[in-house]
Amino acid sequence: MLDDEVRQIIAATRRFVRERVVPAEPTIDDTDAIPADLRREAAEMGLFGFAIPEEYGGLGLDMSAEVRLVFELGYTTPAFRSMFGTNNGIAGHVLLEGATEEQKKAYLPPIASGEWTASFALTEENAGSDPSGLTTAARRDGDGWVISGSKRFITNAPLADVFMVFARTDPDAAGARGITAFMVERGLPGLSIGPKDHKMGQAGAWTADVHLDDVRVPASTVIGGEEGVGRGYATAMRCLAHGRVHIAALCVGLSQRLLDESVSYAASRVQGGGVIGTHQLVQGLLADSATDLYAARALVTDVAARYDDGSDTRLGPSCAKYFASEAVGRIADRAVQIHGGAGYMHGVPVERFYRDARLFRIYEGTSQIQQIVIARELLRNAGVR
Ligand SMILES: Cc1cc2nc3c(=O)[nH]c(=O)nc-3n(C[C@H](O)[C@H](O)[C@H](O)COP(=O)(O)OP(=O)(O)OC[C@H]3O[C@@H](n4cnc5c(N)ncnc54)[C@H](O)[C@@H]3O)c2cc1C
Repeated sequence: MLDDEVRQIIAATRRFVRERVVPAEPTIDDTDAIPADLRREAAEMGLFGFAIPEEYGGLGLDMSAEVRLVFELGYTTPAFRSMFGTNNGIAGHVLLEGATEEQKKAYLPPIASGEWTASFALTEENAGSDPSGLTTAARRDGDGWVISGSKRFITNAPLADVFMVFARTDPDAAGARGITAFMVERGLPGLSIGPKDHKMGQAGAWTADVHLDDVRVPASTVIGGEEGVGRGYATAMRCLAHGRVHIAALCVGLSQRLLDESVSYAASRVQGGGVIGTHQLVQGLLADSATDLYAARALVTDVAARYDDGSDTRLGPSCAKYFASEAVGRIADRAVQIHGGAGYMHGVPVERFYRDARLFRIYEGTSQIQQIVIARELLRNAGVR
């Protein structure tokens, strides 16, 4: 895609986020839902498929363009991005990374247009940071497969039309081996979705358990066809690496918003005859947040470029997600501090963002898991296995 077109998409998204979504934040928070008109307009703008290639109906942004777009999306409630985040990210990427050409042609267009919402169902009660321990099982039955097990904390599950389900197809293979990805459509007998989870933050973004009780699927739903059997774990890890750069960019966008809220409050709140921004200790908080933000944005931009040229698709994504998610946590904390008692009150954006930001250090690999990935990669390059 030409840079001019990318610039136009980013500019239109920036306008939409700031003029339409930011004013709707209190409604989204109160109703725990994204208004239908915002969903429709986001679909019309192509936001359900920005990371999906044009040949499958998406906008076809590469990672460098994607992070610039996500910097804009991150400026508002993360629930807005979450509505189409799984289509572009972890769920849509299961197809991009692992599906046959026939599957991509059949399934990616409705995902890119927003006609379908897709979910990524990997995590289980006893398989979170180490998903290789998952116990959801799929057994061959005639010309199809029968899947049983439970997934938890699955983003968009209450409204998903299709689930990328990871199941163990070889009970004798330990750990990561023997795991296969399936595309399971909503409405199949035996598939049920639990009640919406009550989360700490990110109101308007929904998660729930997904239960599979002898769900029968045809062989054509194995991602990658017969060759995809046993390759699900590797596919999941590639999707998560892409997702980590995306989440890091989201953290940068939210960091910018938190800094803007902080500066604006520091420049207007009067105490002791002057605005609080004249106090050097408040200035220190602002300076630390600006520095964190600058570093996170530069890191994410650099990691995206290396992801695009293929020189680093593992270490960089984990460094970016680790640093940017920890940074937005620090910036949110300082934003609440700068707001004083008001920062602790519902209805004030930084209070909401403080809770929203907490998730970024947890999902798509906790900070500890990013540390492990980074260190393992360094040591592998030094010949340590
Ligand atoms: C709102 C939300 C949305 C989510 N959406 C999805 C989704 O769409 N699809 C999906 O599949 N999953 C999803 N998840 C699951 C998410 O990816 C997991 O919660 C996350 O990976 C952590 O797993 P866990 O909760 O089981 O924690 P655990 O793995 O039990 O970790 C608990 C603590 O132990 C630490 N720990 C664990 N192992 C190690 C280790 N080896 N070394 C050091 N420390 C370790 C962790 O860092 C953490 O601090 C979502 C979760 C949330 C909260």
